Amino acid sequence: MTGRDILSDAGLWRDAAYVNGAWVSDGKAGTMDLCNPATGATLATLPQLDAGQVRDAVEVAEAAFGPWRLRPAKDRAKLLRRWFDLMTAHADDLARLIVLEEGKPFAEAKGEVAYAASFVEWFAEEAKRIRGDVMAAPEAGRRIVVLKEPVGVCAAITPWNFPAAMITRKAAPALAAGCTMVVKPAGQTPLTALALAELAHRAGIPAGVFNVVLGRASVVGGELTANPKVRKITFTGSTEVGRLLLEQSAATIKKASMELGGNAPLLVFDDADLETAVDGFIATKYRNTGQACISANRAYVQAGIHDAFVALLAEKVGALKVGEGFEDGVQQGPLIDAAAVEKVKDHIADAVAHGAQVVCGGATHNRGPLFFQPTVLSGVTQAMKITREETFGPIAPVVKFETEAEAVAMANDTEFGLAAYLFARDGARLWRVSAALEAGMIGVNTGLISNEVAPFGGIKQSGIGREGSVYGIDEFMEQKYLAWAGAGEAKLV
Ligand code: ADP
Repeated sequence: MTGRDILSDAGLWRDAAYVNGAWVSDGKAGTMDLCNPATGATLATLPQLDAGQVRDAVEVAEAAFGPWRLRPAKDRAKLLRRWFDLMTAHADDLARLIVLEEGKPFAEAKGEVAYAASFVEWFAEEAKRIRGDVMAAPEAGRRIVVLKEPVGVCAAITPWNFPAAMITRKAAPALAAGCTMVVKPAGQTPLTALALAELAHRAGIPAGVFNVVLGRASVVGGELTANPKVRKITFTGSTEVGRLLLEQSAATIKKASMELGGNAPLLVFDDADLETAVDGFIATKYRNTGQACISANRAYVQAGIHDAFVALLAEKVGALKVGEGFEDGVQQGPLIDAAAVEKVKDHIADAVAHGAQVVCGGATHNRGPLFFQPTVLSGVTQAMKITREETFGPIAPVVKFETEAEAVAMANDTEFGLAAYLFARDGARLWRVSAALEAGMIGVNTGLISNEVAPFGGIKQSGIGREGSVYGIDEFMEQKYLAWAGAGEAKLV
């Protein structure tokens, strides 16, 4: 089984863009073949829209915005809830699509679908809780009224590593707020996005409210950022592309949310529970074969626990099962493409050239050209690329440190500030180090930090804004203030 035949519901296999509630298979910029990274097999051939077709999608979203924003929030909530129910009912098929185009193990893909759906459920609930404020004014007889209103047409550009969740984390709050959306999924993972569109369609989300466009990143991104009708751009991806999208959006002063690159440090102190720290590191490092922006990119381990930590880590990492996502018990899939494999090799070669030791792994895996052995490196230093750049692969580099101050200084010595992790038992130390780490999210004795209730996002060059949580919907709303005179007059008539 290689494609559509793997699904229980063949209607979820969609290979056309979705605009105004209809499927667009005539791409004016040609077609693109989609590959399964585990096998190299061609999965589908997809239409590529040109800038004019993307502009049409924006027009459609603008036309849909008026009626959508006027629907009672409770109606929007009901439709989102139906979308959530359908995602849950079709979780296995969505996970199969993720495995096919992205490569992660099926169990992880199921986890992603549950995570993706949780945002739709959460924001279906939050839609009903949008509220403003009334404030006492500084002048007599006046009131200050603050209303929350949807920003308008939103463009979302999403990455391949979480093909479902990165879309719902943006679309659910946008639709809940009353915005409409044009999504450009990553070229590597359009099928999951299109299946989500099919389910949105079945849920009864009106035509034009949620659109998925396909095409060359620079063409689609160029139109979405230049178009003045797009009032907000929400992006997850590299800092480099985020910077470009902000530059391109500057001319039309768009509201922006950016979830960008990370270089997450993980600190293990002498008083940490060894097993908890090793398992926590593996949970964050090896999820999605290391291809997550919040993956711990580098571990700093205090001298007293260092050798035991490296030994247990190598034992557990060496036992990780590598293979195709549909095989039983597989924990590590392929990397997304050849460039990802090259980057991993380059980081290892650079580290070894500067004195690091390969404790386990270190080379490509015999499963195929995009598979890499889960690897542990020790003797790593700040001078190596692997501590300075996001590796995005299954490589765990370990740096030894002596003092808390030294570890925090190395952890913060980066332009990124997305996630950080620390493992220790001393409560005062946990607070002190959490306060000193420059990151938007900190895992304290855990490697798992993502859920719909918590605000996800980074500081420094890791981004702008937060997704999920009670705060997430505000990213898709504007405040409108009414200066209300003649309110609260003292004399009744
Ligand atoms: P990654 O390393 O995760 O692929 P990228 O930032 O390169 O991160 O890609 C994330 C998303 O941004 C993808 O959907 C990709 O197609 C898109 N993208 C890449 N380059 C551009 C660009 N010049 N304009 C708009 N979108 C882009």
